[in-house]
This record gives sequence, C-alpha cells and structure tokens, in this order.
Amino acid sequence: MPHDDVVVVGAGAIGLGIAWRSATRGASVTVVDPAPGSGASSVAPGMLAPVTEFHHGEYELFELNLVSSKMFPAWIAELESVSGMSTGYRRCGTVMAARDADDMISLRETFAFQQRLGMRSEMARSAEVRGIEPALGPNTRGGIHVPGDHQVEPVALLAALLSACEDRGVRFVRSGVSGILVERGKVAGLSTAEGERITCDRVVLAAGARSGMIGGLPPGFVKVRPVKGQVVELLPGDESVCPTHNVRGLDVYLVPRQDGRLVVGATVEEKGWDPHPTAGAVHDLLRYAYELFPGVTEMRFGEVRVGFRPGTPDNAPLLGPTDIEGLILATGHYRNGILLTPVTADRIATLLETGSSPEDITAFSPTRKTMKRS
Ligand SMILES: Cc1cc2nc3c(=O)[nH]c(=O)nc-3n(C[C@H](O)[C@H](O)[C@H](O)COP(=O)(O)OP(=O)(O)OC[C@H]3O[C@@H](n4cnc5c(N)ncnc54)[C@H](O)[C@@H]3O)c2cc1C
Repeated sequence: MPHDDVVVVGAGAIGLGIAWRSATRGASVTVVDPAPGSGASSVAPGMLAPVTEFHHGEYELFELNLVSSKMFPAWIAELESVSGMSTGYRRCGTVMAARDADDMISLRETFAFQQRLGMRSEMARSAEVRGIEPALGPNTRGGIHVPGDHQVEPVALLAALLSACEDRGVRFVRSGVSGILVERGKVAGLSTAEGERITCDRVVLAAGARSGMIGGLPPGFVKVRPVKGQVVELLPGDESVCPTHNVRGLDVYLVPRQDGRLVVGATVEEKGWDPHPTAGAVHDLLRYAYELFPGVTEMRFGEVRVGFRPGTPDNAPLLGPTDIEGLILATGHYRNGILLTPVTADRIATLLETGSSPEDITAFSPTRKTMKRS
C-alpha cells in the first residue's frame, strides 16, 4: 500500500470537500469509506441559511457559517466547472413566515436581533410577505425576507465532489475503518474492516455521526453523537401551491427544488441510531407545512428519509489537530454541515499544508473545553 500524504476517513460532504481541496493543492490523498456519500449529507435538504439558522449563544458559529456562505458561489462555480456537473445551487432567498400572532411576536424578536448583528433582512407585513410568496396561507401574519440565502442539492453536490476528487487523483478505498493505529502518541496508520493496514502519518477523521465510534482512540476522545432527523419529499405538481424561496416557519422549513419537488424538514430527535421513519414525524412535518402552505396537500407524496446529524456537546464542529500527533478532526457539523463544507475544506487543507490552524477555526479546536457562549 503506498504511503499517502493524508488519509481522510469518511466521504460525506466534509471528507470529500477536504480531499478535493487538498488534492487541488498538490497533496496525495486517499479517502476510506465503505459507501461514499451515504451519510447525513445525502439526507439534508441543503438549505444554506446562516441568518435564519442563527441560534442565541452561537455567535462564533454564526460567524463561521457566514464566512462559508460567502464562499459558496465561487466554490460551487469551481466545483461545477471541474466536475462538469450541476449541483442544483441557487440563490433563492429565505422567507420566515408567521402563521399566527404568537409566531409574529417571535419573528419580531428574531428581526430585532438580526438587525443588532447587522444581518441583511427585511420585515414584511402580511400582504407584503404574500406578495413575495403568493402560495402562503391567507392567515399569514407577516414575515422576514432574507434575500441573501441560498440552497444546494446535496445528492448532486456529493456526486460532483466525487467526480472532482477523481479528477484530482484522489484514491478511494471502499472499506470501513475499524481503527486508527497510534504508536507513541503519533498516528501510524489505519486498519480496515477487511484487515488491511494503510500506513500514513496524517489522518483526517470526517466520519460524521460515526466519528466517535472508530477504534484505537481513548473512550470519549471524539465527542460526537447521532441526532436523528427525518425529512419528507413531495413530488412536482401544481407549481402555484409551492413556495419559490426557502421558507422557515417556527416548527418546519420548506426547500423548493427547481424541478418542482419540495423538501419538508426536519425533525430533531435524540433517539440514538434508530433508523426508522415514523408516522408521527411525517404527520407533524406535513401538518406544519400545511399550516403555512395549505396547497401542499395537493402534492404527491415522494418519500421520507432519515439521517443522523453529527452532534457535539456545544453544537459547534470539531476542527483541527488533537493531542494525538497527526490526527485531525473535521466533524461534528450538526445542523450546518452542508453550509460549512467550503470553509471546512479550505481551512483543513491549509492546516495540512502549513501545519497550523487558520485563525478563524481555532475557536473550534477539538481540544477546547466548551465553546465560549456569546
Ligand atoms: C434531517 C437533516 C437535515 C439537515 N439539513 C441541513 C441543511 O439544510 N443544511 C445544512 O447545511 N446541513 C444540514 N444538515 C446537517 C448536515 O447534513 C451534516 O452536518 C453534514 O452532512 C455532515 O457531513 P459529514 O460529511 O460530516 O457526515 P456524513 O455525510 O454523515 O458522512 C460521513 C461518512 O463517513 C462514512 N463512515 C462512517 N463510519 C465510517 C468508518 N468506520 N470508516 C469509514 N467511513 C465511515 C459514512 O459512510 C459517510 O459516508 C442536516 C442533517 C439532517 C440529518
């Protein structure tokens, strides 16, 4: 087995993004994954919405989301040009909609907060918001329009990343990694489920929600847990019942595809690795969607998908070197892994090239105690 500059464990959006960026900068890269593109990245609706995704106390994460969001258009243009494939990327903006007076109180708070942080958003009255999104229900009380938000189709993104990696000579090993081999505090390589040994002195662990389950590391070394999410996809039908922007309600979000499909997301469930879609989740998601867009009941049912977000104790990703020399983490992206792919790929590739973490990811060091809340 040849000795590579770097081995990436996991071929989701994060692992593939890092492999492509590092290979583009001249590194020889191997990616090990039994089923590339089969994890959370293939389930996510791909809403790229740093402003409407903002949660109190997550200011540093918001800033990183914003940096990545700004990188998206040029990153996608490069990816689509190298791969020759479309990723379904488009700038569609987001509308946050209030179905009743309670929702409206909450939206006003959100808007005031967005303004304090200098985010680009506009408050809209009932008639204005229905001018922006005519299919919204007649009871809609108002909303917030965020014109800068965008979306990508993650399944198409993964296909383009795989192709771009192959174009740059990334080697793929289709096996599960059973353990990281550590000798005298340094990475010595990997062992695969088939008993193969891959020798290397740098490993990037990007196995999504399974990152904490790789052998060879001390218990609790990678603090990532699976957070179950279910999404429903509705099939194209009458365009006039469907939104044209990303739409976020208080309990649901809707992501319309260019071909008329509509993705309705998402549950957030602490149920370990339970892989089953449930009637209750489908019922809730469709009911919340119907409260905003009554016409969605006319759409044909497509499918329900289940994925596992890589959650961390403070909801922020783990990015950078660890106490084991040569072991770098790029995982724990929780709700925002698709959005955070360009910045993660770029900064981890820089770390691999220069040996030090770029300044804007140092707050996300895997050796932090907990994220500073601000
Ligand atoms: C329902 C839902 C909705 C979401 N919505 C959005 C959204 O709208 N916008 C957004 O930005 N983010 C969203 N996310 C979050 C996003 O999907 C994740 O943060 C992101 O996909 C994580 O990417 P990843 O590459 O780290 O992990 P994954 O995509 O899970 O990839 C991990 C890879 O590691 C491989 N692997 C696992 N174990 C091993 C092993 N032992 N050896 C080798 N390989 C291994 C797997 O096969 C897989 O291919 C959503 C997630 C869910 C579940």
